Amino acid sequence: MNLIWIAPPAAGKGTYCSMFKDKYGFNHISAGDVLREEVKNESEIGKEIASIMAKGEMVNDQLMKRLIEKKLTTLDLSTAFMLDGYPRKLNQAEDYEEILGKLGLNVDKVIFINISKEIGLKRVLGRRTCPNCKRGYNILTGLNPKIEGICDNCGSALESRSDDTEESYSTRYDVYINETKAVIEKYRSEGKLIEINGEGAPEEIFKELEKLLGVNNG
Ligand SMILES: [Zn+2]
Repeated sequence: MNLIWIAPPAAGKGTYCSMFKDKYGFNHISAGDVLREEVKNESEIGKEIASIMAKGEMVNDQLMKRLIEKKLTTLDLSTAFMLDGYPRKLNQAEDYEEILGKLGLNVDKVIFINISKEIGLKRVLGRRTCPNCKRGYNILTGLNPKIEGICDNCGSALESRSDDTEESYSTRYDVYINETKAVIEKYRSEGKLIEINGEGAPEEIFKELEKLLGVNNG
């Protein structure tokens, strides 16, 4: 089985990817991580990417395609895998299907975790973390510490570590939704889209996803 994740920023995609990885051993391919990895390893393709980024340009679709293809050929594809951060646009989806086709595969399911911008903003702007024990809080979604600004667990002062402002989150959200809209519609019309409301409790959403994917056999 292979999955594509589509989720606006702060939808909780990272959490669900980790849950599927930990519980079922799914391979997780993050397009952003793959890109950084190649640059760091100074591979041939990594050097090309570095020179494009040094010029302040975007990594083009052709390069993304080569990158994802290279990554997939290093994996044992008999293990389920999930891709996140790619494809984000219709032509990238076509590129990706071409890659899969060469490997004798098709896109199986596309998971769209839908959250409103309002909820995403609350999650991002309300996030507080304990620098000592790493416990997370959120002062805008009801996960407040008992004493304001102080970790319940260890008494350290909580930190706000989000780089996002309301404006930057709003822009990132809009760009993401606009970019991925065509991909979502494509897979919806092909009957491959699993759309889930991402505003509930993560454990419940994970259970729902397990059910929809038919992976939990007891
Ligand atoms: Zn703490």
